[in-house]
Amino acid sequence: MEQDCIFCNIAKGKIESETLYQDGEVIAIRDINPQAPTHLLVIPRAHIPTLDDLTTEQTALAGHLIEIAINLARKEGIASKGYRLAINCGHEGGQLVPHLHIHVLGGRKMSGSLG
Ligand code: AMP
Ligand code: ZN
Repeated sequence: MEQDCIFCNIAKGKIESETLYQDGEVIAIRDINPQAPTHLLVIPRAHIPTLDDLTTEQTALAGHLIEIAINLARKEGIASKGYRLAINCGHEGGQLVPHLHIHVLGGRKMSGSLG
């Protein structure tokens, strides 16, 4: 249910978050339980449950999400040393919140393992 969706409610301003960027399509916030010194989430306002639900018509939106992630990584000062973008998709992909989001992780050396 979109009504009960954490990220829909954050996008609508119904749940508080540390908002770093927003426009008509996207909101970017700081993760509440950071896994790295910089841990941001770039979230589409539209309730797209997983990467697997993204349509061809939403390819431009996907590009926009990545563009925002890149810009925020620069703004946070992690771009020159390097960082990681991650999208978890579905249960086995480790996705806990069923609303598409990109993790921006940086400020430390990432582990070599992705699993
Ligand atoms: P995932 O496992 O890819 O679905 O990641 C969900 C992420 O959302 C986790 O890193 C959580 O710490 C984060 N998260 C959950 N609730 C909130 C919230 N209210 N504000 C900010 N981040 C959140
Ligand atoms: Zn949602």
